[in-house]
Amino acid sequence: MKIYDSKARMKLDFQPIKEGEVRIYVCGPTVYDDAHLGHARSSLVFDLLARVFRASGYKVTLAKNFTDIDDKIINKSKESNQEITQITSTYIQSYLKDMRELGIRQADIEPKATESISEISTMIQTLIQKEIAYKSTNGDIYLEVAKDPDYGSLSMRGNDEETQARIQENEEKKDPRDFALWKAYKGENDIGYESILGLGRPGWHIECSAMIEKHLAYKNEKFGIDIHGGGADLFFPHHENEASQTRCATGREIAKYWMHNGFVNINGEKMSKSLGNSFFIKDALKLYNGEILRNYLISTHYRAILSFSEEDLLSSKKRLDKIYRLKKRVGFNSHFDSQKDLMPKNDFQNELLDALCDDLNISKALAIIESMLNESNQNLDNSPKNKMLKNEVIQNLEFIASLLGIGVMNANEYFQLGVDEKQKLEIEKLIQQRSDAKNQKDYAKADEIRSQLETMGITILDTAEGSIWEKV
Ligand SMILES: [Zn+2]
Repeated sequence: MKIYDSKARMKLDFQPIKEGEVRIYVCGPTVYDDAHLGHARSSLVFDLLARVFRASGYKVTLAKNFTDIDDKIINKSKESNQEITQITSTYIQSYLKDMRELGIRQADIEPKATESISEISTMIQTLIQKEIAYKSTNGDIYLEVAKDPDYGSLSMRGNDEETQARIQENEEKKDPRDFALWKAYKGENDIGYESILGLGRPGWHIECSAMIEKHLAYKNEKFGIDIHGGGADLFFPHHENEASQTRCATGREIAKYWMHNGFVNINGEKMSKSLGNSFFIKDALKLYNGEILRNYLISTHYRAILSFSEEDLLSSKKRLDKIYRLKKRVGFNSHFDSQKDLMPKNDFQNELLDALCDDLNISKALAIIESMLNESNQNLDNSPKNKMLKNEVIQNLEFIASLLGIGVMNANEYFQLGVDEKQKLEIEKLIQQRSDAKNQKDYAKADEIRSQLETMGITILDTAEGSIWEKV
């Protein structure tokens, strides 16, 4: 396995801390609103990474947090007159639902900031005792960046002018680069949790460091976990600050490798709420089936910028159509279990996994799938009744479903996507009428019904098991 390490700024051979195991932590969402395509992409990247490790025989533990206390959540609570917990539980549920629709497996561990207050405050206290953190006059606690000589070693930032310009001056800080670990309770309009530091709430960065220690980290190794991941926007300051806190508190590095996924652009601009071009997953799911969306979002290499375009989505769907066409051709008409991990069993499967083991080289993987589809169709043209051949095709398709999470559905259902229940009943009724007409040798009527269905965008296929239909 080779991965591009954002810290080393090059592709490295992956060497796990412990043989046969991988521990991955991904920064999850702040739950004050619905998840957008940027969240979908980050989740898909690390879902794919975990699948590739599992298919390679690793035991994977993936943790992804929910930031469930934050200024944005508090503001939303004030604006909407709802309890904090009501807001966070609503958006956690909708996040999990969106991810399920995209075929993303749930993380093994999903810690929440508010459930880790004791670990967070203990870590801050350690930093105070080591005189790396200090309490300001208003009770907030900051990490003193000057005390960490390795600050900036991850992102190579922290001292440059661009960063200085972005940093908010604050008279409570000794140095503008210092960042908040803890915010003391400021009265009525604020939220505070009881802790050894008094009443207050954690700053954003500290929760990941504390939760990694609590749930995932090796205690006596040079590094806490194998891989720390997240969107490229988290590289600085969030990940730099996480790395600094953990280094100062524990004396070791938080992660051995760092992986960052690229942004999602819409209409050539970085998707962001302030630009008003943020695209919620739930809205995208109204337009496209989750697997079609997944197939599209994974088809761009994870480090590249993904420029969302409907045209690209539809062209990537053609590949998915081809997978389902073959699934139908070999007569496999049920769902694959996409929760099942499969190890490669033949040359095609090994080649596919190898491509993804090279820093998730998705374009190579998709080209390998394309060749397999073409070759299988050709072989089936030559020997349509060959059972062994069909079984091999089914095995290959099942492997793709397990590794990439595409081609999972029942093929008949796939080709009927976009038709609602009411329309389905109408179509079934017309097909029945057509079949009755044929039985009564009224071919003119049968043809008339077929063209009526065609104008509705429905094609009928007469098979040994009777007539089936597809939406074109
Ligand atoms: Zn984080």
